[in-house]
Amino acid sequence: MDIVERTDTPFYYYDMSVLATTLQEIKRQIAGFPYVVHYALKANCNPRILNEIARQGIGADLVSGGEAKAAIEAGFKPEKMNFSGVGKTDREITFALDKGVGCFNVESAPELEVINQLAVTMGKKAPIAIRVNPDIDAHTHKYITTGTADDKFGINLEAIEQVIKQAMSLPGIHLRGLHFHIGSQITLMKPYAMLCDTINGLLDDYGRQGIHFELINVGGGLGIDYADPDGHPLPDFESYFNTFKSRLRLEAGQQLHFELGRAIVAGCGSLIARVVYVKENRNKKFVILDAGMNDLIRPALYGAYHEIQNLTADEDVAHELYDVVGPVCESSDVFARDRRLPVTRRGDLIAIRSAGAYGESMASTYNMRTLPQSIFSTHHSI
Ligand SMILES: *Cc1c(COP(=O)(O)O)cnc(C)c1O
Repeated sequence: MDIVERTDTPFYYYDMSVLATTLQEIKRQIAGFPYVVHYALKANCNPRILNEIARQGIGADLVSGGEAKAAIEAGFKPEKMNFSGVGKTDREITFALDKGVGCFNVESAPELEVINQLAVTMGKKAPIAIRVNPDIDAHTHKYITTGTADDKFGINLEAIEQVIKQAMSLPGIHLRGLHFHIGSQITLMKPYAMLCDTINGLLDDYGRQGIHFELINVGGGLGIDYADPDGHPLPDFESYFNTFKSRLRLEAGQQLHFELGRAIVAGCGSLIARVVYVKENRNKKFVILDAGMNDLIRPALYGAYHEIQNLTADEDVAHELYDVVGPVCESSDVFARDRRLPVTRRGDLIAIRSAGAYGESMASTYNMRTLPQSIFSTHHSI
């Protein structure tokens, strides 16, 4: 609490013991299986967080050259890196080829040709997986559903075979496998079970044609319990991994890759802010924070829910309904509407929980605000 009291708000507070427990649980779940977990850097690229994840032997999922550099600096091994994204530039591809990334997740036929040409020029064979769009609706928010036929991601099922054959014929390409990623904040196992069925069907089809893959990558997307961070500090890794263990029929020697972002880092972070004013309008009371949508954009962007706690007020005092808002000049700069909080005063410290994923990494300087700082603690509670 001391360090929290002494640091200028707003800032991200990371509980490194939660991160460590999360990583241990993942390692426990995959032990003895031919599974490789990659961390999707876009969820949080704070160097200290990256270091801790890399130290645990987890791989990295990248979506830009900048992330590739950050991953290398943090100590991730290039051969355990996957490079995803629909718009990889020539410069990014060349950089990744030069560093020896383990797999390019290829999202289109034109991209495949460019990677081939660049690899041939460099005298290399680019390891790739083809990103299949399995047309599965993960029933999450429309901005974080990625696996339906209308999304920009991946290659449609009906066009896959053509691209596989093309990849096998190109001299600069080493086709390693198939890649899937169906969306984010998925808490029901049904979409993952459907994904397993789709993959089983594809592996049967290609197996009959004598085409075998070294690896299958099922992407990420496992969600967390935003409503009850203390009750469920960790995502349901057991149900998640069990779905693949029980339902997916891997071929002998085949590796299964995962790319988890949110599930690894969401729970360890909170955005800490101070109440600047409490204001009353005709029908509403507003708690106005010194943190805004530039620090944490998820509520404004996706209508996302985060638990909000008043760290200063006693829980047993009277409660009121407040709209908790930021200072940014946008009506969407709202963290919560009609949220029940203990009677809140100017100067109180507020924690916005489960903000470790897509929080700091999406922060901006909009309104010429400074980027939030980050502080770390190994103690469990603030
Ligand atoms: C964003 C992304 C992930 C991680 O998603 P989470 O929902 O944070 O687990 C994994 N793979 C790809 C290709 C992604 O774009």
